[in-house]
Amino acid sequence: MKASQVSVYPWQQAIWRHLAGYIEQQRIPQAILLTGAPGLGKRHLAEVYVGALLCHTPSPEGFACGSCAACKLYQANTHPDYLTIEPEESGKTIGIDKIRQLIIQLALKPQYEAYRLVIFQPADALNTASANAFLKCLEEPSERTCFILISDQPSKLPATIRSRCQKIHCERPNDVVARDWLARQGIKDDAEQLLAMAQGSPLLARQYAEHHFIALRREYFEAWLQIALGKGDLLSVAEQWQKQETVDLSVLLAWLASWLTDIVKLAQGIDVAGLENPDFKKPLQALAERLELKRLYQYYDAVLKSRSQLATQINKQLLTEGLLIDWSQLNNH
Ligand SMILES: [Zn+2]
Repeated sequence: MKASQVSVYPWQQAIWRHLAGYIEQQRIPQAILLTGAPGLGKRHLAEVYVGALLCHTPSPEGFACGSCAACKLYQANTHPDYLTIEPEESGKTIGIDKIRQLIIQLALKPQYEAYRLVIFQPADALNTASANAFLKCLEEPSERTCFILISDQPSKLPATIRSRCQKIHCERPNDVVARDWLARQGIKDDAEQLLAMAQGSPLLARQYAEHHFIALRREYFEAWLQIALGKGDLLSVAEQWQKQETVDLSVLLAWLASWLTDIVKLAQGIDVAGLENPDFKKPLQALAERLELKRLYQYYDAVLKSRSQLATQINKQLLTEGLLIDWSQLNNH
């Protein structure tokens, strides 16, 4: 077992003490709802907790030993008392078949002496039918079984499920802790900007660094500026934005929204210190002086609306094209 699998991230110490307290007192909640923004390592925390509950000889801090028979099985991902419930494909729901299958498995005793653990991720992907079926599992507890529901958007879960879970919320680390951790990953110079882009989530910031998000953000901004100037082929820009796989379209639209927010701030004479994109101040200022505020607000609303439509079956090519055409028209082309 890797060292990382028997310890938690620095910003998870307090939560870990809480979870370890359950183990120490042998008061394991039947269901835990683990919430918090993406990129904070919720899954990792859940897996460390699972490892600790499966382990035959955990350490005094409550972590798995990493070397007993149970740990070996868990490490090889073959422990029979550890189950995961996930959608077939990312973005899809967790179908009722998965829950029916789970109910059959839960009817049997756990195979080992310790606990049986089931991770749901993302738990908010349960649809109405599967959530109702799962509710029965919560209402009629099975022997030594603990469910861990992981969710970035817990409000999407039915209240009937939420109310039956112990809620544990992962907070974003403070800047010092986050930067210190990033520095130990070899990320120093761009740490501040990456953390800002990742809304303070260190794991997301590291992922952004690995995929050169700072350079990509600049590239996308330049293309968007070109369209504002009436240059560049907006259809091919739209195609490129929509086709590339590195930057999720929802992230790109969030960038777009933040550029617009800054233009509005600049148009209203708000202090530069409050800008989300201080590095783009000059071109944003030029746009602020030129564009009509009312139409900017409308465009901002359209960007947010498009962002919320991404989770639906909408044609992403048309959506991206529409946004760039509107942007071009807003600039009077
Ligand atoms: Zn062990």
